[in-house]
Amino acid sequence: MANADEEIEGATIIAESLRDQGVQYMFGIVGVPVIEIGIAAQAAGINYIGCRNEQAACYAAQAIGYLTGRPAVTLVVSGPGLLHALGGLQNAQENCWPTIVIGGSSDEGLESNGGFQEFPQVESARLYTKYTARAMSMSRIPFYIEKAVRTSMYGRPGACYLDFPGNIIAGKKIPRSSIITRPKVPFPPRTFGDPDDIKSAVELLTHAKNPLVIIGKGAAYSCAEDNLRTLIDLHKIPFLPTPMGKGVLPDDHPYCVAPARSLALQQADVIFLFGARLNWILHFGAPPRFRHDVKIIQVDISAEELHSSRSSAVAIHGDIDTVVSQLNKELISQPGKFEFSINSQWWKDLRLKIDNNRKVTQSQIIDEKPMNYYTAFYKINAELPKDCIIVNEGSNTMDIGRTELPNILPRHRLDAGTFGTMGVGVGFAIAAALWCRDYAPGKKVVCIQGDSAFGFSAMEIETACRYKLPITFIIINNNGISFGTDQESFADLQEDDPCISIPPFALTPNAHYEKLAEAFGGKGYFLEDPSELQATVRKCIQGNDTSIINCMINTFAARKPQSFEWLTRSKI
Ligand code: ADP
Repeated sequence: MANADEEIEGATIIAESLRDQGVQYMFGIVGVPVIEIGIAAQAAGINYIGCRNEQAACYAAQAIGYLTGRPAVTLVVSGPGLLHALGGLQNAQENCWPTIVIGGSSDEGLESNGGFQEFPQVESARLYTKYTARAMSMSRIPFYIEKAVRTSMYGRPGACYLDFPGNIIAGKKIPRSSIITRPKVPFPPRTFGDPDDIKSAVELLTHAKNPLVIIGKGAAYSCAEDNLRTLIDLHKIPFLPTPMGKGVLPDDHPYCVAPARSLALQQADVIFLFGARLNWILHFGAPPRFRHDVKIIQVDISAEELHSSRSSAVAIHGDIDTVVSQLNKELISQPGKFEFSINSQWWKDLRLKIDNNRKVTQSQIIDEKPMNYYTAFYKINAELPKDCIIVNEGSNTMDIGRTELPNILPRHRLDAGTFGTMGVGVGFAIAAALWCRDYAPGKKVVCIQGDSAFGFSAMEIETACRYKLPITFIIINNNGISFGTDQESFADLQEDDPCISIPPFALTPNAHYEKLAEAFGGKGYFLEDPSELQATVRKCIQGNDTSIINCMINTFAARKPQSFEWLTRSKI
């Protein structure tokens, strides 16, 4: 029992308030004036993970938010420390993931005095957050922290920033008895959809010839897997996951039509949109990727999101898991009203397309050196435990990984997400490995990245090794951004003026990235031969080290031909 008369510093109040609000992990880089917060956090029982760059720390923290539904904290120093974290904050905002950044700042009363690392931190962070505040009262620290935790989780989840002046963090002390405590924020209330909207949605579904369910990462976040499975299994509706909606229902579920994505989107006449925005990932819901007359039944926790990009026929404001349970009840109460047949023309067309696309993909798997993406993924996938967490980023590495690396469980895929951010992978993998350690011992984390994506946060390999996290990093290395050059041509280019002759997309050919793991006590493997890949992946996954497999592929390997180019705006 804490002594009410004990005099404590702001750092201790901050750490204990975070702990009392259920914050379990703090990522960051310490320095003046936040080092005391890091130390106090550990004393309060919070896991502190010292990172090498604030941006990667913030990526790690937000992945914890997605995996657990409660925010983790990124601790940053003033000025540059916060600036480096802003990219992470915006990434969390874009993905709608709860997270909190805590920054130290100039002492109260010394603002605008040209202080060390002085910067308009609160003003800057406001653009990237749902809630931002400078905490000026020691006794009210629990208030600010409770508000940041609650705001990050409630409504549409997102990012918050709290700014603590140096003299509030350390130096001054106040008695425990003067602290105004706040109870722990419960998980957000589960909001129901309007019953009239539920009826309208079911009515619309009964007239559908080509129904489709789109499962987004909002559905994953809402933990809607059980209710969605009931909806899909009972009514045999084809479903299509978005990249991080993968695994809410298994990719090998018989009603998953991901291999016929373009056809499903183009010909669906009624679409359930569960927790996905009609943004670039879903081609803005616009023709020719969607029918002109498609009727959308949209479900989202954010009222502002309803009717965004195109008007929805039925717009339901509510929590997805709750709304799907309402839909299931309504459908079950009207037996026979919606009986969709797997012998329908819609299912026949989808199945044909799925079979054809699978054949095209399989024809790309060729056992030759240098490997292409499909061969590398085929061999990697053969060794991935079904329940592992897959982190996947890069351009082709992520796009092809989306189709070739199946997910069986919800919230088991982390990728570049809504903001298309490259460099998130190592931070995400560190967070996922900590989550496995604490919540799912024995579960494996495999991070499959392009060589360019890996480079953004490569020094976090030292972080992973320091905390002995058994992550298998697989770098799909094509010597560049989308393409690269071979060693011989690169040497010639370097002979000229390299700044003029080395193409902007080229990186050092055959760079030995695996040595980074070796440098910090992990294991590294460089391989070019497809025959070595499977055994190496197996060895790394079964082991307990941080390991890097540097998998060389053909520098000109590409995706199989697409019916639509992913980002070609002229076609939208
Ligand atoms: P994806 O990347 O899978 O396409 P988006 O990030 O675009 O998904 O969309 C996720 C949507 O899910 C956001 O609009 C967000 O408001 C919504 N969302 C998040 N949590 C919930 C929830 N519990 N219930 C309903 N909608 C949610």
